[in-house]
Amino acid sequence: MSTKEIFQKITIKKGDITKENVDAIVNAANSHLHHGGGVALAIVKAGGQEIQKESDEIINKIGFLPTGNAVITNAYCLPCKFVIHTVGPIYGEGNEDEKLHKAIYNSLYLAHLYNLKSIAFPAVSSGIFGFPKDRCAKILIDTAIEFLSNIKTSIEKVVFCLFDDETYGYFEEYYKNLL
Ligand code: ADP
Repeated sequence: MSTKEIFQKITIKKGDITKENVDAIVNAANSHLHHGGGVALAIVKAGGQEIQKESDEIINKIGFLPTGNAVITNAYCLPCKFVIHTVGPIYGEGNEDEKLHKAIYNSLYLAHLYNLKSIAFPAVSSGIFGFPKDRCAKILIDTAIEFLSNIKTSIEKVVFCLFDDETYGYFEEYYKNLL
């Protein structure tokens, strides 16, 4: 696939991810899948407590979700079909770039395994977890390009749905400079 075709699969937009009409939205979760703040709380508020319940069942089985891993639940009242919960690094814990890359890659891989066509990401780790927003933009976009370049996948559309102007600005700037 050409570079142009890969870039065409990526969309950068400002908005509320809970309103995204894609196959899966990604939740910036914590290791306990306790959706108590930030985008995680917004997802449960809009989608329903069933998302928290299904997440609790996963945690009852596996104990905790290690940083960089991803799991999937149904989306209930959300317009999307699934929620992919991934755990990004807390800034300062070490090896953050690698861990953030892994979280995004594994989310894309899970969407691919489910044969999904579209997926939307928030700026994972850049809120409560304190990851610098400009570096977050670079890692998320680079990982999507890497994935789409290397894997023959069902995924046709990767959306980065950013909540505030500042974060949107970093994503837009990094993406434009790649074109
Ligand atoms: P983390 O703990 O991984 O940092 P947060 O939920 O605190 O996760 O923040 C991740 C990003 O999600 C931040 O940029 C935050 O502004 C953004 N965010 C919060 N609510 C929403 C929403 N409804 N849609 C999209 N992004 C959101």
